[in-house]
Amino acid sequence: MIELKKTAKPQSLINNGDNWTKDLMIDFYQASVIDKTKQNKYNKPDIKQALIDETNEKCAYCESKVTHIYPGDIEHIIPKSLYPRLTFSWNNLTFGCFWCNNKKRDFLSKECMILNPYKDKINTHLRAFGPIILHINNSKRGEITWRQLELNRTELRDKRLEKIEELKNLIDKLNSENIPALKSLILNEINDFINRSEYSFTLKQFFEDNGSVTQTVSLDN
Ligand SMILES: [Zn+2]
Repeated sequence: MIELKKTAKPQSLINNGDNWTKDLMIDFYQASVIDKTKQNKYNKPDIKQALIDETNEKCAYCESKVTHIYPGDIEHIIPKSLYPRLTFSWNNLTFGCFWCNNKKRDFLSKECMILNPYKDKINTHLRAFGPIILHINNSKRGEITWRQLELNRTELRDKRLEKIEELKNLIDKLNSENIPALKSLILNEINDFINRSEYSFTLKQFFEDNGSVTQTVSLDN
């Protein structure tokens, strides 16, 4: 999980969000069953595209690039089933993979919230140890996050290992290069790879632990 920045609210939410919320809340208070078509109105191409753009096509929780194999889901950070008033709240929407969405579902622990990539400083709660992600500083929120979302599930660990191998090759190239201009270009490539690839959180930590101590990489998102 990496920190994300909310982008501009999409036009269809600006135009309709308040009315959609009003219609939904009338059903919530007056009808015995909520009309699904009213609840799912957030499913608009401009909303989904804005979320895909702001997450760099990655699941906001596990950082897998979901669009390669499956369209991905619009995810409600606070579950819409528990807080229907937040169904169309732009700050409550993100992009998630099928697996994280399923692990999270309607889970909400008010006294110990799952980390919010838009609000929380992730590296004060979680740290990558090779392909594994664990909580640090006794962070209960970090612990509930990796446990509830199963951020160390086997497929994720395997995929993170593959990316670490790619990064290792780049680090070897960097360390064996003596020409400063070329070294600088390789470092740019590493920076780009860490920021754009899946599992940036893991890769950034791996580079800090295994790259040259004089070089640092900053995450852009
Ligand atoms: Zn995921």
